[in-house]
Amino acid sequence: MLQIPDLIKKKRDGGELSADEIKTFIEAVTTKKIQDCQTGAMLMAIWQKGMVTTETKALTREMMSSGEVMSWPKEWAGQVVDKHSTGGVGDKVSLVLTPALAACGCKVPMISGRGLAHTGGTLDKLESIPGFNIHQSKEQIREILDSVGCCIAGQTEMLVPADRVLYGLRDATSTVDSLPLITASIMSKKGAESLSALVLDVKFGQAALYKDLKSAKELAQSMVDAGIGLGMCTCAVLSQMDGVIGRCVGNSLEVIESLETLKGEGREDLMELVTTLGGVLLKNTGLASDLSEGRKKISDVVTNGKALSKFQAMMEAQGVAKDIARALCSPETDYYGILGKSGKQEELKAPKEGWVLGVDGMVVAEVLHKLGAGRSKVGEDIKHRVGAELLVLLGQKVKKGDTWLRLHYEDPAPSPDQIQQLKDALALGADEPQHKYTLVKELLPPM
Ligand code: URA
Repeated sequence: MLQIPDLIKKKRDGGELSADEIKTFIEAVTTKKIQDCQTGAMLMAIWQKGMVTTETKALTREMMSSGEVMSWPKEWAGQVVDKHSTGGVGDKVSLVLTPALAACGCKVPMISGRGLAHTGGTLDKLESIPGFNIHQSKEQIREILDSVGCCIAGQTEMLVPADRVLYGLRDATSTVDSLPLITASIMSKKGAESLSALVLDVKFGQAALYKDLKSAKELAQSMVDAGIGLGMCTCAVLSQMDGVIGRCVGNSLEVIESLETLKGEGREDLMELVTTLGGVLLKNTGLASDLSEGRKKISDVVTNGKALSKFQAMMEAQGVAKDIARALCSPETDYYGILGKSGKQEELKAPKEGWVLGVDGMVVAEVLHKLGAGRSKVGEDIKHRVGAELLVLLGQKVKKGDTWLRLHYEDPAPSPDQIQQLKDALALGADEPQHKYTLVKELLPPM
């Protein structure tokens, strides 16, 4: 059996690690029998030489097995599903999709993350609801799935401990952006949820990690292969991420938009993502005969209030007081009365008449991040009420002076430079755009 320095050398020199060798490395990481410098050296060797599909699959499997793997009652066989997104601006899909899937008969044990850098995190959004508890043990998750059907929680200490170590060292060794390491990190955590089916929302564009479709597709294929290797029926949706998804960006504003969507008032782009991702899962679990039936079922439960009832039940099961959960889900909600509102707002006006061609989501996200909506370091506090409402639709005509963005801020106030950046984020054209704006570009494998 090769020793750790030999394994590092093998990878460094471009060799292919066997499944046993990968197991040795991950066991050493998990049991802390390896020095951080050795782990860092191996991460850099993987970053530089890459991995073939069999190595990535083995790495994913070993990382998954480094900790607790959830198990479900056998009556749930074929019904346990989840989705993962590579991160977007205004991406509140999970808040709508999770209860919609539960309303269609699925079990959704969503283990989610916090926001880092410019993208928001589902857990931060949910924590803007008073009382919402994202800390749930695997026993509690199971109980909530039994009674409600869906639960959104944070990663427990016992879930994929190898990833915790590797993720920390990847940051410190500039090895975050490696296809096999990203694949194994994400898919090992999904594998530990013991899912029947998983759908991946892999984003590309100006406001995504991957800027072009080709590189996003490589990541999607790598994750689909790893998911299938773990026995999960895994598909990917490749979606455009240049602007803002839906109407709001910022934690509590996105909760409000999600509730409005669950009351049937969702924007078309958000609903396109929700119905496509959900439709894929319903088809892959056999709850729909094809994608279009799956999409319709998801759309129906969002418009007829069944998904909203699941969201209300999930909030109650995760610690939100009954009267608050009920009030948030009632037709005439005083959202700000319950969730609070930032102390100050500023409205930005269109500088001229024209057609809305785009809004630079990355600029909006970066300014909001600096105003406290996001964090730069793990553990940092965030301001849940800081955010922005996009008051126009892409392709819409605006007149000079129409309000197109409402900024919600606290302390610090936006600087004149930040306000100018936001103003420049709006692209107006003289002519009506000829094509309809859609987000979903491709499914992998095609359906
Ligand atoms: N999310 C993860 O959990 N891991 C990565 O490597 C990237 C995103």
